Amino acid sequence: MIIIMKQGATSAQIANVTARIEQLGCRVHLSEGEERTIIGVIGNGRPLDCEPIERMAGVERTVPILRPFKLASREFHPQDTVVMVNGVPIGGRQVVVMAGPCAVESRDQLLETARAVKEAGAHVLRGGAFKPRTSPYSFQGLGEEGLRLLAEAREETGLLVVTEVMEPQLVPLVTTYADILQVGARNMQNYALLHAVGEAQRPVLLKRGMMSTIEELLMAAEYILSHGNDRVILCERGIRTFEHYTRNTLDISAVPLLKQLSHLPVIVDPSHGTGKWELVEPVSRAAVAAGADGLIIEVHPHPDKALSDGAQSLKPARFAALMQSLRPVAAAVGRVL
Ligand code: PEP
Ligand code: MN
Repeated sequence: MIIIMKQGATSAQIANVTARIEQLGCRVHLSEGEERTIIGVIGNGRPLDCEPIERMAGVERTVPILRPFKLASREFHPQDTVVMVNGVPIGGRQVVVMAGPCAVESRDQLLETARAVKEAGAHVLRGGAFKPRTSPYSFQGLGEEGLRLLAEAREETGLLVVTEVMEPQLVPLVTTYADILQVGARNMQNYALLHAVGEAQRPVLLKRGMMSTIEELLMAAEYILSHGNDRVILCERGIRTFEHYTRNTLDISAVPLLKQLSHLPVIVDPSHGTGKWELVEPVSRAAVAAGADGLIIEVHPHPDKALSDGAQSLKPARFAALMQSLRPVAAAVGRVL
């Protein structure tokens, strides 16, 4: 349940209610808004009698929360969460663009891409060092060497780095190089990994599983939040449907819906969402128009030679044109890019 305090409730009253909830064996999540404080109660499995709580000084009313996600829910935390990543706010007015190759392939490939996306106005460099490939015979990524190259590109360009971590044991290593830890679609329900990134001191980009519902995505976020990491960014990257002309079906309605249900920032991946470079620009525009807080886009200097996902990768010049075409869309919905 959530406890809505009266406007002007004193800090002593808030502390009293908090202490009472903790005595009952529940955890408390405080959300102090401009007008009033909301106390989120994370239960211990036993039903809670709300009547005595409603009689406490400063309490206006209690509201039961029927949804299974709590910390991720808008009810618990009515204001938008802005995730700060080394000075870059994600979830504020600025639309944040993450761009780079699907996989880090070589120093030249990465640095050329990093310089180009920086020049075009991206904020974060993406690139997989550990790649979750469908086939064990496909390029699996450069591993730690790839992480070192990402760090070098960050050093040179000032871009932040987002990169995927696929197993709990690798979280400490990836954390030493990455500004944002990416949990990929295939690992969205890898609970050991969610636990590990939940304990990491880094923001987490959580991608929607290709066969996952919105509620399952929010429950996965709940795992990370409940392990103490409150910097979670959600990512819609398309789901599997009967449609074959696109790689996945990008669920554009997930953007406003997630923002309704949750306070967490939401970004969109139009590259994996469509699988076709020609669709990346229009779908990016749609995502920003629908309220996305950011985009993650694959860019490669030579898509025809890419070791993964060439068909959905933009050349740097196309990426720069895309950035230009996004600016008026962002402005039309009160955002900046
Ligand atoms: C990626 O972003 O590199 C990736 C593998 O995406 P997803 O997990 O969404 O398939
Ligand atoms: Mn890819």
